[in-house]
Amino acid sequence: MKICVIHTGGTIGMVATETGFAPLNGVVEAELERLRTAGEISADFTLVSADPLIDSANAAPSDWNWIMAQIQNAHEACDGFVVTHGTDTLAFTAAALSFGLQGLQKPVVLTGAMLALTEEGSDGSRNLRDAFRAAEQAAPGVWVQFAGQLLHGARVRKSHSSEFDAFKASATDQAPWRAADQLQVIPYGAVSAVIAAVAPGMNADLIALAAEHAQGIVLRCYGSGTVPEGLGLRKALQAARAKDVPVLAVSQCAEGGISLGTYSAGALLQETGAIDGRDITVEAAYAKLLHALSATQDPIQRRAILETRLCGEWAT
Ligand code: ASP
Repeated sequence: MKICVIHTGGTIGMVATETGFAPLNGVVEAELERLRTAGEISADFTLVSADPLIDSANAAPSDWNWIMAQIQNAHEACDGFVVTHGTDTLAFTAAALSFGLQGLQKPVVLTGAMLALTEEGSDGSRNLRDAFRAAEQAAPGVWVQFAGQLLHGARVRKSHSSEFDAFKASATDQAPWRAADQLQVIPYGAVSAVIAAVAPGMNADLIALAAEHAQGIVLRCYGSGTVPEGLGLRKALQAARAKDVPVLAVSQCAEGGISLGTYSAGALLQETGAIDGRDITVEAAYAKLLHALSATQDPIQRRAILETRLCGEWAT
């Protein structure tokens, strides 16, 4: 067994500094060496590190592309991949890889830690060990290993900001895997999208500005898909439609998703051509929007991608 470790940064490999925790080269490497010597990981591994290592707050689609390029380079040579990553945007990256890597033949397992390996009682060692096991045994696809759970890469969200058990993923009957005969990487391009939320008394000019300046909008609606029906939002959504800016509607509720057409107060979304995001997470909606915008210039094809369940990102 040969595992390729792709180290991007995050708390797992951080040390305390005067301005707070920051990544340091060698922390994850030293722990992997310790685990190997102790016989807690038995697979051979190679490690490639991002330069510089980052707090995942600074992750961008170019970092997703870098990770995908490492996976493509080592896809033949390795049996599985462990990606060490900060937890703050780990769910965005897991979703982005799920959409951008088609025809994966190996498991790709993202992990990290809530407490640095350099701190007493860190969860990093356990997560690393478990991630190695998952990279050796799991089905091909993009997974997140955290606090003893193996979670679906396109369904996962950070649900707690301080506990070790920080991630959740709602059930789905489809593996986090996009079908293709062989690995095909679809890189993220220089495209832009915004995540906007409706709120009581909101100023809809912000959504109008998003329609003017971004190529896609994730619209966080209420409950099962309602929005305030005022003229401002109507105009903004009509402007988005006129500019072929896709609006992907999702729920502000963490579970259950939207179901357009349930309430009359959501009719505006259907009238203006918003796309039903069902119970996709906000993170996966944003990554999927960037994926669709990057994959094609054609508005009809972009819409078709957004309306297709690519890898189990919504429940059924
Ligand atoms: N701020 C850190 C990061 O996302 C948090 C973590 O890794 O847990 O890189």
